[in-house]
Amino acid sequence: MEIKGVLFDKDGTLLEFHQMWLKVSQGVVGVLLERYPNQSVISTECLLSAIGVSGERVDNSGLLASNPVEDIALAWFEILIPDCSPTRFIDEVKMLFNQQVEKNSALIQALPGIEAVLIALKQNGFKLGIATADTKAATLYSLEQANLLGLFDFIGYSDGDIAPKPAPALMEAFCRQCGLTAGQVVMLGDTVSDMKFGRNAGAISVGVLTGTATRAELAPHARLVLASVADFNPGLLDMA
Ligand SMILES: [Mg+2]
Repeated sequence: MEIKGVLFDKDGTLLEFHQMWLKVSQGVVGVLLERYPNQSVISTECLLSAIGVSGERVDNSGLLASNPVEDIALAWFEILIPDCSPTRFIDEVKMLFNQQVEKNSALIQALPGIEAVLIALKQNGFKLGIATADTKAATLYSLEQANLLGLFDFIGYSDGDIAPKPAPALMEAFCRQCGLTAGQVVMLGDTVSDMKFGRNAGAISVGVLTGTATRAELAPHARLVLASVADFNPGLLDMA
């Protein structure tokens, strides 16, 4: 089937992941431990480890790399046992993440060569979309900072109102908005969850190695694994 649309994950796929999200998650954990000092036995390392971060390493299948902030907040809720409802704690953690993203805006960077590929795809008539596990506020803010916001026909985030990846809801929303079927779409992402998302929805999944996963992790779930989105053109799929 002819490819007419390309859907992208955001962090680790279009934008630099490591520096940015290590800093952001460390910042959020720092504030939480100040706000909940009665939990003094709980360490920064413990909260970071619960979301798949140990030192500078981010686990590809961990919550920070693959899940929405709601899941991160619920994992921390169980550890911190704060004196409020889960819903309120989720809102608090979301707000903290958004604040830390803005605080670290200097670290928001498009990966090398990405913008040129997006512009070329757009000029060739492809519909472009984002399917991210990030919140609406942080997604729009980061895309604007990276100067990519105007390039997309669809921006799908996970803010508690739609089933997050790997459920197919974001793909369905992209297809609806752009008048496509999933079979006409390529999904590009840096995690196994992104690859499963593309496949679950009936699209073609292509992995990239600019984020947290290795080729060996992505390959079993992907039609193709590339070093970067910068190397992507739809013609590669005919050869794969
Ligand atoms: Mg990613």
